Amino acid sequence: MASSMGSLATVRVTVDSGSCHGHQMCAIAAPEVFGSDDLGYATVLLDGDIPAELEKKVQRAEANCPERAIRIVD
Ligand code: SF4
Repeated sequence: MASSMGSLATVRVTVDSGSCHGHQMCAIAAPEVFGSDDLGYATVLLDGDIPAELEKKVQRAEANCPERAIRIVD
């Protein structure tokens, strides 16, 4: 069994739709994870944990969201 120490392997990402302004910077940073609805606001394409290979992209998207609408949660 692999240790999870130091890994984000069991975390999820959410978007606060009330804060999102539809810049789509998140979809540029992590197109595998973020999409958009009919009005251009961000949606999360993943249904579950963030795959390890996408962790850095999601962290970058969270850090660069101008509205702080992205949350990475355990
Ligand atoms: S970067 Fe932030 S505010 Fe812009 S679309 Fe993505 S989640 Fe919404």
